[in-house]
Amino acid sequence: MLAKMEAGLQMSRLLVYRVGELKNQGKRNTREVSLAKWQACDFANQAADDAVQIHGAYGFSDEYPVERYLRNSKAPVIYEGTREIHTVMQANYVLGEREDKPLNKMLPAWPFELEEVK
Ligand SMILES: Cc1cc2nc3c(=O)[nH]c(=O)nc-3n(C[C@H](O)[C@H](O)[C@H](O)COP(=O)(O)OP(=O)(O)OC[C@H]3O[C@@H](n4cnc5c(N)ncnc54)[C@H](O)[C@@H]3O)c2cc1C
Repeated sequence: MLAKMEAGLQMSRLLVYRVGELKNQGKRNTREVSLAKWQACDFANQAADDAVQIHGAYGFSDEYPVERYLRNSKAPVIYEGTREIHTVMQANYVLGEREDKPLNKMLPAWPFELEEVK
């Protein structure tokens, strides 16, 4: 479970970096934002669920913060587009049934060097 948490964290980070990279280039990133939001929120929720499981009954009690992590991680799976809506969006992109219009005005590219994350 810990390895799965680590994998989810690293994959989410890469998806979020991709979103930021496109934003810095002034390009539309709607598809990538949807994918990153969906996956990162799902991974976080799964990690919190596993954390409760790892702690057993203590994980369920309010003596430790893990039960709060599980409650808190559920909300983003619902707001700003539920996981089901992002799944439908991604399926539509893959099937070519959804295409984003070009931006009305291109955003200025932002010269930005990503600092290495420890
Ligand atoms: C903590 C929290 C904070 C929020 N903050 C805000 C806020 O600041 N501003 C705001 O406007 N809203 C906010 N919301 C509301 C949130 O945006 C909605 O709850 C969310 O969009 C889902 O809408 P709904 O609750 O009406 O569910 P419904 O649309 O009724 O959907 C119910 C379920 O059916 C699924 N579903 C719906 N349509 C489909 C489909 N076509 N295919 C497959 N599954 C489907 C959904 O994924 C969901 O699981 C917040 C919600 C929460 C939990």
